[in-house]
Amino acid sequence: MALLEVRDIHTYYGNIHALRGISFTVEQGEIVTLIGSNGAGKSTTLNTICGITPARHGQIILDGRDITRTPPHEIVKLGVTQAPEGRRIFSRLTVYENLLMGAFTRTDPRTEIEQTLEMVYEIFPRLKERARQMGGTLSGGEQQMLAIGRALMAKPRILLLDEPSMGLAPILVQEIFSIIERLNESGTTILLVEQNAQIALSICSRGYVIQTGEIVLAGTGKELLENEMVREAYLG
Ligand code: ATP
Repeated sequence: MALLEVRDIHTYYGNIHALRGISFTVEQGEIVTLIGSNGAGKSTTLNTICGITPARHGQIILDGRDITRTPPHEIVKLGVTQAPEGRRIFSRLTVYENLLMGAFTRTDPRTEIEQTLEMVYEIFPRLKERARQMGGTLSGGEQQMLAIGRALMAKPRILLLDEPSMGLAPILVQEIFSIIERLNESGTTILLVEQNAQIALSICSRGYVIQTGEIVLAGTGKELLENEMVREAYLG
């Protein structure tokens, strides 16, 4: 059974039919990527999974459980967390406080939350160095690390990453993606949304191409990197 199964979801913004029957799966331990151009429906797909913009039709199944109508905070408790596009960190809270916010739905003992914090600091030593600094004073790359670190504080079973490369210099994109790969190697299942198709397809197990709210192509990362349509439309 897949860890996450998205079955024929349709999502609307008022009359705008943004997702038109999206279906895909993410198996335990995979990195699955959704690529597509601006406005294709990638962020809407993540927000639909998280319950932020609920689907009007279709189903979202997490480890056999239907979460289609589950409210967002409950979905976080069930193990789905997102590092959103644009990072959305709290600029007037410290790095440490931002990280603690990521654990707000956890009910396990404080010592366990502190263990996760230590794990996040191990993955991102720069966050530890800057723990007392205000979130808003971090560089773009550090803010992206903070957004991912904060999502990890919820101890997710599946981590949703929305455009982690956005606005970052190429060298930082490399750094963030090698961290994403390491996170996956240490057991985190990842659903990754990216406009940078080259780097996303080079680290994923499988990928899907979204165009105007529909999946038009699916394959392994390697297959999609070699696909003529993908090369023309997304690899320039
Ligand atoms: P981007 O990389 O630009 O975020 P995307 O693939 O993530 O692109 P979405 O943001 O999911 O695309 O948008 C899908 C469609 O839904 C687009 O046509 C977009 O204009 C529309 N849309 C997104 N958010 C809203 C909203 N809040 N209100 C109305 N329409 C929206």
